[in-house]
Amino acid sequence: MIKGFEQEVSKRQNVFSATQKPQGDKITRSSQRPRSSQRTKTTARSAPTGYIKKAAFIFSLSFFLFSLCFSVFAQILSIDEALDRLGGGNRAELRWDPFFASGTLVSEGYEAAFISGQSGESGMVLLDHREIMNLPLPYLEDGNLRFPENFINQIRNSFRRYAEEDSNRYRIAGIVIDPGHGGRDPGTVWDYRVNGRDIKVVEKDIVLDVAKQVHSMLSASFPDKQVLLTRDTDIFLSLDERVELANTMPLASNEAVIYISIHANSSLNRNARGFEVWYLSPNYRRDLIDRSRFAGSNNEVIPILNSMLEEELTTESILLANSILRRMVDTAGRHSPNRGLKAAEWFVVRNARMPSVLVELGFLSNEAEAILMSDEAYLKNLSEAVYKGISDFVAFFERSGGFTTLR
Ligand SMILES: [Zn+2]
Repeated sequence: MIKGFEQEVSKRQNVFSATQKPQGDKITRSSQRPRSSQRTKTTARSAPTGYIKKAAFIFSLSFFLFSLCFSVFAQILSIDEALDRLGGGNRAELRWDPFFASGTLVSEGYEAAFISGQSGESGMVLLDHREIMNLPLPYLEDGNLRFPENFINQIRNSFRRYAEEDSNRYRIAGIVIDPGHGGRDPGTVWDYRVNGRDIKVVEKDIVLDVAKQVHSMLSASFPDKQVLLTRDTDIFLSLDERVELANTMPLASNEAVIYISIHANSSLNRNARGFEVWYLSPNYRRDLIDRSRFAGSNNEVIPILNSMLEEELTTESILLANSILRRMVDTAGRHSPNRGLKAAEWFVVRNARMPSVLVELGFLSNEAEAILMSDEAYLKNLSEAVYKGISDFVAFFERSGGFTTLR
């Protein structure tokens, strides 16, 4: 019986090589198939051997032809069929470079780049700059590009997976810009007489000017985010009112808010000058976890979660502060020294449950800096620096998905 079985296999392989060169997967398929013919033979032992051999041969030949048709003809798609699978003509497109015979399939912002091959050839496909897959390649036939079905299906499945991953990715949903002081609280105020001209610098006005410019630049570049000002006129706000806006912003579980308070400095030492950015010191422990969420559960976990979140917010606040400082050095560094990053149990930012920093634009108590800050062009430069620093931080964090979901 085993001898007959071997004959069957060798006979079938002869047929394959006569009709078409067997490919790797077809050999595998044919070598699996004899098991069923073996079963056929054992159950029909009494039938004449020649008849069984013939039946088995016809059966396996038709099976082979069927699978050949299925694999070669039914699994090849035209461009239109391929694009349909990837979401339809207005959502998916093919960018084809005839010189390099390479193409990129694009659907919903996701890309799959390939170089066309020969019919039946597999090769590397770069999927959305994230991963490389070895897939049966598209090929040219009479000037038309043909797509193996498996190639398109794998790309479609990968794009779906990326879309799902991306929808869960952390993002910054809101940016709150807080111009310090306002209304009956002017902040620091200084009068100078420079070259016969009177200059009065008022912190609440300077920081409102800068905050509004930062707000309008951020709103233009992040239309998908809520960019808010705690005040856009000369009004007084309590400290609670300032952070309330940010703390009560409705957020999805993968979203975060950042908070940037803008001030101008003052010192008894009239020589003190320069800009600096403050973040909240980890020494000041905020109550960051909503305890009602853990009602009835083990209360010992709350301080641990609280300090974990505190660490993360501190790290993020430092990164945000450094991004802003870096841009301020580029923009204002020639005119005003960088006093660096500072930690404080700062009264304005300490109640904000989010990465939060306080920017001191410069010293109004220093005559040279007061003159600088009464110049619209200088304030525009500072505004651009703060805006770029925030944008750098947003881009970095949305790429790396660095925010916690604990709130
Ligand atoms: Zn201030």
